[in-house]
Amino acid sequence: MNTLNETKIIVPAGHTESVARAIFALEEGVFTKIICGAANTNEGHVERLALVYALSGVHVIDVAPSQSIIQSAKTGIKKASELYEKNPEAFSFYKEPVIMVSINAGDDLHFRKAEINYEKCTNCFECIDSCPSKALYSGCHSEGFSPKNLSNDNYKLPSQEGQILRFTQDDRRSQDDNRIQLNKNNCFGCGRCENACLQNAIEFTNFNNSSDIDFEEIKAVEIHTGNNSIEEVKNFLELNVSLLKNIELLSFCVESKRFNPAELQNYVSSLINLVSQKVIIQIDGIPMGATDKHCSSLQAVSAAAVLLENKLDAYIQLSGGTNQFTKKLVNQLGLKISGIAYGTFARKIILSYLDELEDNFSAQLQRIVNITTSLVVN
Ligand code: SF4
Ligand code: SF4
Repeated sequence: MNTLNETKIIVPAGHTESVARAIFALEEGVFTKIICGAANTNEGHVERLALVYALSGVHVIDVAPSQSIIQSAKTGIKKASELYEKNPEAFSFYKEPVIMVSINAGDDLHFRKAEINYEKCTNCFECIDSCPSKALYSGCHSEGFSPKNLSNDNYKLPSQEGQILRFTQDDRRSQDDNRIQLNKNNCFGCGRCENACLQNAIEFTNFNNSSDIDFEEIKAVEIHTGNNSIEEVKNFLELNVSLLKNIELLSFCVESKRFNPAELQNYVSSLINLVSQKVIIQIDGIPMGATDKHCSSLQAVSAAAVLLENKLDAYIQLSGGTNQFTKKLVNQLGLKISGIAYGTFARKIILSYLDELEDNFSAQLQRIVNITTSLVVN
C-alpha cells in the first residue's frame, strides 16, 4: 500500500485540499492531530509547534479560541511551507495542515488557567516540577529543589530540616523575586500543580472563547462538550450556527470518564445525530493527562473500544493521555480507530526548544523535526 505521502489525493467538491487530506486520513485510520492547548496562549510556542508539526506531516493543528493564536499557527505553517519549498528532501513529510479551533460549549476543563493564591502559598516550590509546560518558576528554583535543602542562611527564615517553610506577609513582599511565579500564557489548565500543592493555593479562572475570531477563514472546529447535556450542546450549536457555516470538519470532544459504557454510547450517538455531516468524536481519556508511561492512554483506548462496538457513523479519534505507546496499543488490540490526537506529550517532547528555536534551516531544526515525525508517523 502507498504511504499517505505518496498517495495522490482527489479533492472532493467543496473541500479545500488540506481538509480533504485530513478526511482521507480519517477514512484510512491514520489521522494525526497536534493539540497546542485549548488555553495555551503562548503565541511563540504555538507558532513553533505549528512549524515543526507541519514539517512532520500532521493533518490538523488544534489551537485555542483566540484570533492572535490562530494567526500564530498560520505563521508557523507558512514558515514550514517556505522551509519545505527550499529543502523538500529534508522535510519530505510536510503537507499543509488544517487549523482547528477548539471552542468551549460550556463548563469544560480545557478552558481554564491556574492562579496562585498568595495568601495561602507558602512558597514551598513543590508545584514547580509538576508543571509540564514550565509555567511555574521562581528566581531561586532549580531542578531537584526541595524545601529540605533550604537553610536559615539561604533564606533567613525560620525552618527546620524537612519542615515546610511558612512565609509571613512581610517576608513575601521582600522575597518577590524568589516567590513562585506563574507564566499564564504557558498554562493550559491541566491541574497537576493543584494536585502537588498541599496548601490548596492553586485556583483556576475560566479562559473564554474570544469574540474576535474570524470564522469566515476557519475550516475546522472542535466543540468541547465538557459536562454539557445533549440539550445544552444542541442549544450551543443553534446559537452559533452562523459562525459554523463554513466548517468543513467538525469534531466533538467528549470526556469519557463522565459516563458508564452504555451512557457513553448514548451520548455520542445523540451528538452524531445533531449534525448532518460525518463528525470526529474526540474521545478524551484523561484530559491533559499524558505521561510517558505505557498505561497513559488506557482510559482513552478503552472508551474508544466501547464506541467501536456500536459501529457509529463517525470518526473515532483518541486524545487525553495519548503518547508514543498509544498507536502500538491500538494495533495490538485491533481497534479500527480513525486517528490519534497528541497534546501534552507532543508539546513536552520538544518543550525545551520552543523558546529558542530559530525558524531557518538548521541541523537543530532537523533534529527536532525528526523527533516530532517519529510521533506523527510511528
Ligand atoms: S495548571 Fe498545569 S499547565 Fe497550568 S501551571 Fe498548573 S501544572 Fe502548569
Ligand atoms: S505548591 Fe502550593 S504552596 Fe507550594 S509554592 Fe506551589 S502554590 Fe505555593
